Amino acid sequence: MVPCQRWKAESKRTSVVRLTLAPESVMPAQRLDGRTLAARLEGVLAEAIRHGLSVAGRPPGLAVLRVGDDPASGVYVANKEKACARVGLASHGAHLSGDTPQQELEAALRQLNDNAAVDGILVQLPVPDGIDDQALLQVLDPDKDADGLHPLNLGRLVRSEPGPRSCTPAGVMALLKEAQVPLSGARAVVIGRSTLVGQPMALMLQKADATVTVAHSRTRELAELTRQADVLVVAAGRPGLIGAEHVSPGAVVVDVGIHRKAEGGLCGDVRSAEVAEIAAALTPVPGGVGPMTVTMLLVNAVRAWTRRYGLPDPCPGL
Ligand code: NAD
Repeated sequence: MVPCQRWKAESKRTSVVRLTLAPESVMPAQRLDGRTLAARLEGVLAEAIRHGLSVAGRPPGLAVLRVGDDPASGVYVANKEKACARVGLASHGAHLSGDTPQQELEAALRQLNDNAAVDGILVQLPVPDGIDDQALLQVLDPDKDADGLHPLNLGRLVRSEPGPRSCTPAGVMALLKEAQVPLSGARAVVIGRSTLVGQPMALMLQKADATVTVAHSRTRELAELTRQADVLVVAAGRPGLIGAEHVSPGAVVVDVGIHRKAEGGLCGDVRSAEVAEIAAALTPVPGGVGPMTVTMLLVNAVRAWTRRYGLPDPCPGL
């Protein structure tokens, strides 16, 4: 564990936890480093695969269904395949053209469902216009749903039942846990209410006993709301939306947004330079939530494989 020295729980006597900067820590925020944690978790998964191979007789397999030629999706799929290779998963890619009829895509997914060498399946989003991504997700075998987006798995999350969890919010929870951010009784604000990020994020924080408010595009007086947050998760998809005026001293800020800048490089939804002067901790972009999303995908696939062969959970508690 990387102990987080930069904040303290002000009130241990009541159930209300305020995160405030320790007096000596008037300095830029601690960096919540997703790359380092992701690399460590990859090591844990690689070890679990090495140990389980003799029992399973094959490595875990992750299949990515890609439809069309969106260049950003191409980069994401390549990154996932590289991560699989590093950790020891077999990649089973299926790349179909953007004009493939819905029925053929669903048939391709059913083949992957039936493929005994595949433990995790992911539909690379977004899919081209005209394809119903929600219908595709419903075809997935819920136990092979590496992204945790099948309706059954979202229901399992609501009911606190085991099952693959949505990768991005699960990655955020892993980062918060690693930094020992106290969540019980903390005030959390999630900006964004998408099925992919905002909603499962809010549920996960709530299940960790935070008091959660979800903000969205119709929220009034956003800054007034976000300044109340001990933990602020920003998943609005709006570059630079959140600045110093939105953050209280000592808050923990997680930037889920990821955008390509016109001048090159990436940025998030948070104006990181100014927020780093105020927050106790902040995720960088790149190198924060992004690497954790990929790692949680691998966790879901390896976990499906260990469950199938009666092997121990590779990452209990995550
Ligand atoms: P989305 O467009 O589906 O949802 C955005 C949400 O933000 C909506 O609920 C909307 O109401 C809210 N919103 C938009 N503008 C707002 C505003 N001005 N004030 C308050 N709320 C506002 O996007 P998404 O799929 O949830 O993704 C959000 C961002 O996270 C995107 O930038 C996406 O690229 C990024 N993302 C990153 C990762 C990663 O691994 N780092 C993974 C998934 C998504």
